[in-house]
Amino acid sequence: MTGPSELSARSAARTGQRSARGGGGRTPTQSAVHWTEREKYGFLLQLLECPEFLLPERLERRISVEKTKMAAYQLEQKIVNENIRQMDGTDSLHRPELLESLYSQVSHLDSVLSSLEGQIQVLEAVQRSLPRPTHGGSQHDSGTDGHEPDSLEAMRTVLSEGPEPTPGRRAAPCSPHPAELEPAVLLHLERCAHRKTRRQLQLLQNNARSYDSSGRQRVTSQPESLHGGSEGSLTGSLETLASLASSDRLLDELKLREMTIAQLRGRVLQLERARLDNIPLDPAREISRLQSSVLERVRDELTLQNFSLKSKLSEFTQQLSSSGVQFRLDQQPPAGGRRPAAGSDSGAGVGGRRGGSEHDAEQQRRIGELETQLHNQRNELEQLRADSAQLRALEARLEESLSRRETTERYLASRQEELTVLKLDLETLQEENTRLKDDLSRVLRQEAEHSSRLVRLSDCESELGRLQEERRLLADSLQRERTLRKQYFNQMEELKGRIRVFCRLRPLSEPERRQGGAAPIDCADPYTLCVGGDKGQREFQFDRVFTEDTSQQRIFDEVESLVQSSMDGYNVCICAYGQTGSGKTHTLLGDEQAPGVAPRAFRRLFELAQARAAQTSCAISTYMLELYNDRLVDLLAPAGARADEKLEVKKDRRGTVVVSGAALLPCQDAAHLQLLFERAVGARRTGATRMNAASSRSHLVIGVTVEATSRVNGAVTRGKLSLLDLAGSERAAKSGADADQLREANAINKSLSALADVISSLAAEQSFVPYRNSKLTMLMQDSLGGNAKTLMFVNISPAQYNLDETLTSLQYASRVKQITNSAARNADNKEITRLKNVIAKLRQRVDCGQPSLEERDEG
Ligand code: ADP
Ligand code: MG
Repeated sequence: MTGPSELSARSAARTGQRSARGGGGRTPTQSAVHWTEREKYGFLLQLLECPEFLLPERLERRISVEKTKMAAYQLEQKIVNENIRQMDGTDSLHRPELLESLYSQVSHLDSVLSSLEGQIQVLEAVQRSLPRPTHGGSQHDSGTDGHEPDSLEAMRTVLSEGPEPTPGRRAAPCSPHPAELEPAVLLHLERCAHRKTRRQLQLLQNNARSYDSSGRQRVTSQPESLHGGSEGSLTGSLETLASLASSDRLLDELKLREMTIAQLRGRVLQLERARLDNIPLDPAREISRLQSSVLERVRDELTLQNFSLKSKLSEFTQQLSSSGVQFRLDQQPPAGGRRPAAGSDSGAGVGGRRGGSEHDAEQQRRIGELETQLHNQRNELEQLRADSAQLRALEARLEESLSRRETTERYLASRQEELTVLKLDLETLQEENTRLKDDLSRVLRQEAEHSSRLVRLSDCESELGRLQEERRLLADSLQRERTLRKQYFNQMEELKGRIRVFCRLRPLSEPERRQGGAAPIDCADPYTLCVGGDKGQREFQFDRVFTEDTSQQRIFDEVESLVQSSMDGYNVCICAYGQTGSGKTHTLLGDEQAPGVAPRAFRRLFELAQARAAQTSCAISTYMLELYNDRLVDLLAPAGARADEKLEVKKDRRGTVVVSGAALLPCQDAAHLQLLFERAVGARRTGATRMNAASSRSHLVIGVTVEATSRVNGAVTRGKLSLLDLAGSERAAKSGADADQLREANAINKSLSALADVISSLAAEQSFVPYRNSKLTMLMQDSLGGNAKTLMFVNISPAQYNLDETLTSLQYASRVKQITNSAARNADNKEITRLKNVIAKLRQRVDCGQPSLEERDEG
């Protein structure tokens, strides 16, 4: 695209060129010279084509017309230049199209102006070369003698030297070839000669006519000397004949010259065509130039025709009128009042009559001739009228074609404007197209990137899936490993003698559901319990964690091995700790529908005894006590026995806790034991609190001793299974108990806090353990830090309402887990057993009382 600066530069160059040309001392540029040569040649050819171009008035008029045109074009050019100046100054960036069109207008105007200048120069040169008319009358016809050679000279001057050089201007070199120009000049010469011949012929014809008419005139004016006139008439006829002969010769000459002209014209056209082939054409300009030249030529021809026809018409009219006068004169009788025919009839002689008849015949012949002439002239008049009608039609056609041309030009201009607008639109659309193409390529690039990213993403997704699967497998195996590790750790701890702690979560009861629902307690794995609270989530590790859906059977399966240990001679203690209503009694004792650990253990002991009956004989006995308000109560005491009979807690030599004074009843079978158990449970004190409809108000102690004697070697093992259902730890305000129950609760809490102290000092591995602070801790002396295998159930409530108590219970249980017992099997061989029995009997016999556990400790 053309930049505005470039356009400005071009404009400046043009302006400079114009100002140089428009100035007084004009320097002919190369292009102007070229135009002048070419155009001058074409223009001269046009002039040559036009036969009457040499009329001085016509030349004058043509020059003035061209000058007016030039002035108009100069004005237009000024306006366009002004527009360019404004455009250059203002918004040229956004109107390059308009600028471009203005520049093209300027260049067009330049060429038009230079063409006009050239034309004017040529016309002026020709005019100058023409001789000035010597008389005042206008020289309408170019046939005046001497014009052609002069004008030809002018042509030669123009063609060979160019127009008369203006002062300060060098004559342009003659560019048309003489070979090209010579035919044109010859053609012109031929034309001039032709016209000359034609004019001579016309002159002769006119002379002949005027001679004829003057002869007649003479006859008319002197009717008396008709015979004398016939002589003149004869001479005239001779002259006419001579002139006719001359005219025949001239006609032949004319025909010859016309042929030469046709040949030369053909040659000129040929040369012209050859020349035009070499000139690069501007079709639009060429068409308009040709149109205007054709139109001008047609107009000139028509004007010429019109003019000649009019002159002919006037001539004929004149002839007609003169012929009419002559005719009327001939028809009138001579002076004397008698017609020549009547005079001959009445009084003249034969000679006079003959003379009269000859005269009549002559008259008749004249009349006939004149009538024929009149007829011919009428025909010619008709012809002239037809010609003038044709002329008018031609003029109308000319007008019509002119108006058509104007319309076409207007239409062309409007189309041009439309074209400009369309060009602008096209440019806008092309820009838009380019922009859209850029956008499209960008979008395509992005799409390619996107699809490659998608491919990468799908790869990543599949990789992620694989990794997730791997991670899941790893997590599973980790969990398995952890569980196993915990299991092994617990087994190791058990082997080391650690107290085992099982946690059991009971289901949410209906009242609890109404009171606020479940606390955020979560069982992460079979060994871990997570409890959320105000202080965040806390995690507790136990030997087992049982969720709310764990069955009683499942619980027993986990403790069955301990039951078996008691058969093997170990002291085994299974106790249940937790707040009231957390499920201690349910776990240890259960009910008929869901029997707890105790009834299942009883059955299992007898099953084991039965299974080992071949090797060992088992003696199973039981005692069942209640620790109520820090007082031991024998629940199996026979009816009628004193309820306040003092029961004492003692330790035997091996450190096993025994309760002296308590009934130790042997059991034959499991049913018997179950019966005793039910009796004891029935005797236990319970009370309804807000926490529990039948809350245990005492600690229950069930002891089952197993003495197994080997049938093989007589070895005796003594095991003991203690089941301890502790009373619930609770806050008095929460449980809503009455005065008695408050006293019970105080006693329970006191014993439980003594238990907590023992647990703390055992966990801290302190040397002094305060077992004696409570009967409960004394009862549990062998189970906590003693020689027993101990398992503690910590029962917790799932309710949000009990969350604080739940956390307290769990903290205590965690501490219990750190306590280590040193479990040992209670086994004696046969001899030791025999000796022990002897000693015991002797002791009974000498009635030597053994001091109680308290007395011994105090001592
Ligand atoms: P605690 O002895 O600790 O005071 P209980 O054993 O008397 O509590 O239980 C209170 C209530 O909860 C009882 O009605 C009992 O049946 C019920 N319960 C306790 N644990 C469970 C459990 N695991 N499954 C079903 N019910 C239970
Ligand atoms: Mg209970």
